[in-house]
Amino acid sequence: MRRRGMERIARIAVTLALLVLPVIAAGAETPMRTWIAGVSIVSPESLDRIETGNVLIEGGRIALVDRGGKVAKPDGATEVNGKGKFLIPGLIDSHVHLASIPGAADPSSIKPEITKAYYEQLPRSYLYYGYTTLVDLVVVNRKVLEDFRRAPLHPDLLDCGEPLPFANGYPMNFAPPGVRFEPFPNFVYDTKHPEAIPSKYKPEDHTPEADVARVSKSGAVCVKTFIEHGFAADKNLPVPDAEILARIRKASTQANLLMMVHANSFDSQTSAVNAGSDIIVHGMWTWDSFETSQEVPPEIKALLDRIVEKKIGYQPTIQVIGGANAYFDPEYLKNPAILKVIPESMLEWFKTPEGQWFKKELAGPGASDAKMFEAIERGPTHRVRQVTAYLASKNANLLFGTDTPSGPTYGNLPGLNGYLEMQQLAKAGESLAQLFKSATISNAREFKIDSQVGTIEAGKVANLVLLEKSPLESVEAYDGVVTVWIRGKASSRADLAANRAGPR
Ligand SMILES: [Zn+2]
Repeated sequence: MRRRGMERIARIAVTLALLVLPVIAAGAETPMRTWIAGVSIVSPESLDRIETGNVLIEGGRIALVDRGGKVAKPDGATEVNGKGKFLIPGLIDSHVHLASIPGAADPSSIKPEITKAYYEQLPRSYLYYGYTTLVDLVVVNRKVLEDFRRAPLHPDLLDCGEPLPFANGYPMNFAPPGVRFEPFPNFVYDTKHPEAIPSKYKPEDHTPEADVARVSKSGAVCVKTFIEHGFAADKNLPVPDAEILARIRKASTQANLLMMVHANSFDSQTSAVNAGSDIIVHGMWTWDSFETSQEVPPEIKALLDRIVEKKIGYQPTIQVIGGANAYFDPEYLKNPAILKVIPESMLEWFKTPEGQWFKKELAGPGASDAKMFEAIERGPTHRVRQVTAYLASKNANLLFGTDTPSGPTYGNLPGLNGYLEMQQLAKAGESLAQLFKSATISNAREFKIDSQVGTIEAGKVANLVLLEKSPLESVEAYDGVVTVWIRGKASSRADLAANRAGPR
């Protein structure tokens, strides 16, 4: 009796605390133990066993996976009714660029208050679509990453540190010669053209070995370099030769870092494969001398077979092309999902003449939107789909990575772009099981975080997503997020939306 009285007083005290101290009480809302009951457990290591059961979260980790539902709810656990729903591991996008602002040439070309609102929403936008782990491939602004990691709710974040572009090559070429070195402290010196490099940079500080050592010291998990001959106005860019690539490979191996290579043409992917890269971070939408071919020619198939055989990680990034084509799609900016992931002020800016600046760069002279859309679909999109279909048919080591945002397009918005990429991959011919694995266990294994995330198994971090439908039945299931747990803390989807009601 007395005990019950004490409990009542304690309960009243808690209730009062909730009323009086809403800020402090926010921590108390997180239950110590969560019991997700009667849910279909969809975990990539056992897709042959989709069973109904219960999952217990305790202290930010998965404490128990009760397949079959034989265990009773533990005392004190908060129950989440999972009946009729599907629990999956949090999704992993292993190719993002957090500091890049969609639709803007650089952050200074857009109003600072829009940039601020965008960055504040950014972590929630990825969570809104179920992404709980990200890899940023190109660190250009460390502060953005630090702010992201400090946000009250945010996906786990790995990075490749400052990248290794070849001197005056891609992507340094976007900036004028006088200012293009500063943002790339790990550029690789071009010993054949020292006259094209400011004299304050010494060759010995910019060898592949010195660059990789700095990347390693920064706490990165990967090294990013580029084999890009250029496109549009900037063709014939300098690229690293086989010797430079071999040295980057060797230094990365010694530092235990993954070697991730930007390459999207037949020639550059050939160099990336010859160099022994771990991951090719783009699909092949340029076929060089086979550009007019409608089917994958035997020469390209032979290269793709080597990619399969060597188990090289491959990110098709079809939405890079889709993101450019968004400028010619009259429906794109009308998608209501856009306001779930970016501030309204940004959408309004996209619609202004200044916000449409990139369209002028992409558009052919005198071509209508419809003609441009068709040309892109029939050209690069068709080619990258064919290559993806071939790799999927051979069960290649496909990794889910979106390249969000790829360049200055507004067609790749955080979170939403992952969903669009999934639709592209499914359309290209990846099976739903391949797609699911590529965004969970395959990424986790490749980045050596599979002891922590990537499956629903006891002991792993409780990064989980509750879906209305099965991701093995339709790609649209990924748009049916109900709840996202990040390190055991639950958020409803509505609370993650950019246009959510209530205080920020
Ligand atoms: Zn990228």
